[in-house]
Amino acid sequence: MSLLFPVTTRFAPTPSGAMHVGHVLAAFTARHLADAHGGRCLLRIEDIDSRARDVRWVDQLMEDLDWLGIRFDGEVMVQSQRFDVYAAVLRELHDKELLYPCFCSRSMRRHENEDIARAPHTTASGCTHRPDRCRTLQADEIERRLVDGEPHSWRIDMHRVQDLIGCPTWEDLYAGVRRCIPSDCEDVILSRKDTPTSYHLAVVVDDAQQGVNLVTRGRDLMASTPIHRALQAVLGLPTPVYAHHPLLRDSKGVRLAKRDHATSIASLREAGYSPAQILSEIRSAVSNGGIWNANQPR
Ligand code: GLU
Repeated sequence: MSLLFPVTTRFAPTPSGAMHVGHVLAAFTARHLADAHGGRCLLRIEDIDSRARDVRWVDQLMEDLDWLGIRFDGEVMVQSQRFDVYAAVLRELHDKELLYPCFCSRSMRRHENEDIARAPHTTASGCTHRPDRCRTLQADEIERRLVDGEPHSWRIDMHRVQDLIGCPTWEDLYAGVRRCIPSDCEDVILSRKDTPTSYHLAVVVDDAQQGVNLVTRGRDLMASTPIHRALQAVLGLPTPVYAHHPLLRDSKGVRLAKRDHATSIASLREAGYSPAQILSEIRSAVSNGGIWNANQPR
């Protein structure tokens, strides 16, 4: 595995709810990988979605991280302060003729992950070949509808991306060498009137901007990596190594989420857990196939 030295990795939470043990696993894994390679671990707040800009959750996140004793290096990057940077990159993709407007209504798009600002936490493949209706609209129709002010979003044309960059590869610390076939990927939405960027665009731009050469995150985000790798290639950005770590699940095998109040750091703290006990429970869950079943401090 060709890890670049010095390693720079990151923890990039979306503070739209209480931090839970799954986030702690991601943060500890990133910190551990940085320390094991004498590198740096950065913190980035992914709050392009207005719902993730609730100061209550940001404050709680910072307090939880502090209480857990997880430290980060350098300055904290905050995505909501960087909309002009994302807009410039969108213009660049537009100038390369890689974007097209999509006039489909919300109901026509309902099979898609509607929430373009959030990371799609799914185990399904991010590469789902499907007809992207608006890709084949004629130029004069596009022009007319844009002039008429018809609401639209902007999608990336993954077929054109493939013509431009071919099928780039990347390395995953746990899964080995992977290949991105852009034309197998969905033409994801990169911006909409109400959200002038997307998770996919912001994460790629910011990892490059922060010099992240090791992207540490949960395995449920692995499905997004072909899209990210394609964006890096068209934008001429460096290729990081990825570390998609295994996830924590409940006793039914369901991925832990912000809705599971019992696994939030605040409630574990209230129940009497110390940071060391939480870490030790996470370690035993990981060695138990990722099943989290701690309820009371031992
Ligand atoms: N902000 C994303 C989340 O909290 C993680 C994105 C990433 O690590 O690439 O779900």
